[in-house]
Order: sequence, then structure tokens, then C-alpha cells
Amino acid sequence: MQLIFMGPPGAGKGTQAQLLAALWKIPHISTGDILRACVVAKTPLGLKAQAYMDAGDLVPDQLLMDIVQERMNQPDANAGWILDGFPRTVAQAAFFDTLLCDVSGAGGKSGKDCDIRAVNLDVPDNVLVTRLLSRGRQDDNEETIRRRLQVYREQTEPLIEFYRAREQLVAVDGDRDMELVTAELQQALSGDS
Ligand code: AMP
Repeated sequence: MQLIFMGPPGAGKGTQAQLLAALWKIPHISTGDILRACVVAKTPLGLKAQAYMDAGDLVPDQLLMDIVQERMNQPDANAGWILDGFPRTVAQAAFFDTLLCDVSGAGGKSGKDCDIRAVNLDVPDNVLVTRLLSRGRQDDNEETIRRRLQVYREQTEPLIEFYRAREQLVAVDGDRDMELVTAELQQALSGDS
């Protein structure tokens, strides 16, 4: 099982990714969690990333590529994984295609031949804002939320078409009870690892 979770901030991708990863006993890899841990630990990476995160902007692609490359090369990623919050730009998706070929040892294959599925959780903006405001994370104030939604629409939403064109997209309505969304994801994804 190799899954990418997409969707705007507040769509519930973190929650769903965590649930399914526990169920399928594969790592849940959240680039936001990794970055927040670096910020707390004040590592050089964390110090570079913090201002972008606080402003609701994306952290530069190169930093993300380094993080993901290192994480995907750890042994527990061999069994499969759920990536939550990466890729978020077309450049990251292109890089990830190359990386997948390297880590899977599938010389000559490209990401579009790999068995990945990209899940999109669709939720209307007004629901997202309400959800994010009630979450209370450091970057969940109204101005940053608005900025993150704008960044999502401009930079990340094009990836939906990128994966749809490759027939790797699984689109699910995320504006429902958490349990219903989990059930639909399980149904849509089971059997195609
Ligand atoms: P998240 O927890 O996924 O909402 O991510 C929180 C913040 O971390 C985002 O608003 C970005 O600033 C940064 N971030 C996480 N993943 C990425 C990524 N793939 N590319 C760029 N920035 C990211």
C-alpha cells in the first residue's frame, strides 16, 4: 500500500491517514509533523522552516525533498506507507516520481508506473475554516488559515489533475462524519495494494 493523501488544510487527511496507517500497520509519514518536530527541536531545518510555516506558506521544495528522501529510505517504509501532506507542488510530485523508482529499485520505471494511489479529500472552504479555527494549532489563526487555503488552491490543487490523468486518483467527499469517510476510504482502497 503506497498512498498519498491530498486535500486542503482541515480536510481531515491527517486523521484519516493516521487511522488507516494503524489499521494496515504501515508508517504514517506527515511532512507537517516532521517539520513541527524540527521547529520544536530548533534544528537547522526547523529554524529555516519556521517562518514559512508561521506565515502559512510552503516550506521550500528542496528542504521537503531532503526530508522525504531520508524518510523513504528507512527500512519501515519498505512495507508501504501513507504520505500525508507531500507532495504539495508539481515540482515535489516530479521529484517523488524519481525517488520512487530509486527506493523501489524499479530501474527504468517512473512514478506513473508505480502502484501508488493519490487520495483527495474534498471539503468546502467554509467547513475548512470552521474546522481549522476549532483546532487551535499555532498556525491556525484566521489570517494564516486564509493564506494556507490560497496556497493550497494555487500550488497543490493542480496535483489532483496530475494524478487523475494517470488514473491514480481516488476522490472522496470529506465533508461527512469521520467514520463514514474512513469506511469509504477502506472500501475504495482495499484490494489494490
Ligand atoms: P500540515 O501539517 O500538512 O498542514 O503542514 C503544516 C505546514 O508545514 C504547512 O503549512 C507548510 O508550511 C509546511 N509543509 C508541510 N508539508 C509541506 C510540503 N510538502 N511542502 C511545503 N511545505 C510543507
